[in-house]
Amino acid sequence: MSFIMSYKCKKCGYLFNLDLPIQASGNAMVTSNPSCGCLKCGSKNIGVSDAFELAEKARCEQDPTSAKRMINDALSFQPDCHHALEIGVNIAAAIEDKDMFSKLSERLVRLFPKTAASHFHRGNYLSRFIGDFNAALGHYMKGAELDPNDIDYIVNGAACYMNMGRHREAAQFLESARDRFTEDEQCWVIDFNLVSCYGVYDRKKAKVAIKKFQDIYKKHPAKEHFENISNEICP
Ligand SMILES: [Zn+2]
Repeated sequence: MSFIMSYKCKKCGYLFNLDLPIQASGNAMVTSNPSCGCLKCGSKNIGVSDAFELAEKARCEQDPTSAKRMINDALSFQPDCHHALEIGVNIAAAIEDKDMFSKLSERLVRLFPKTAASHFHRGNYLSRFIGDFNAALGHYMKGAELDPNDIDYIVNGAACYMNMGRHREAAQFLESARDRFTEDEQCWVIDFNLVSCYGVYDRKKAKVAIKKFQDIYKKHPAKEHFENISNEICP
């Protein structure tokens, strides 16, 4: 795991991003200046960039209109500030601003292609706003490759397959990731999606999966919801 911070050199004014590892002790380390100093002149006199600070303010802002204005200000200072882009893309998704979502998710993927979350945002834009499930799937797969322990890429990728009517491939995708997850809530989501896939193309397999599901998740809070769905799949 890492965290990309934006800095400004107080000596030469250079703006730059640094990819810092996140330590188990929380994010205390990201508030201290990294030992490398300014990437241009080497000065140790660097601070968090204005764009970063504005983005932080926008994050705390409850009013989406002023948050959007702050983020746009932040990005006009420093268009490649990762933190501002991340916050901006979340604001765009929340207020369903299609143009903003498109622009910022595209920029995240272009500037930070090795960050799994960039692909998550782009995939969400393409599937939710454009309905291009094939292109979205490519981004979720890339995200899953970069961050194999995050279930969101798996679930969203499987949903893309299902939206394209490719339920067998959706099931294969879920099955291939199943063993990586151990927490009940995660397994529940994967198994639930698997049942939905099997239900479309193989009722026998669906019945077996439903039985297994019912045995494992006897106490799950959403058990009733699942019972209704499974009755529809295999009455
Ligand atoms: Zn400098």
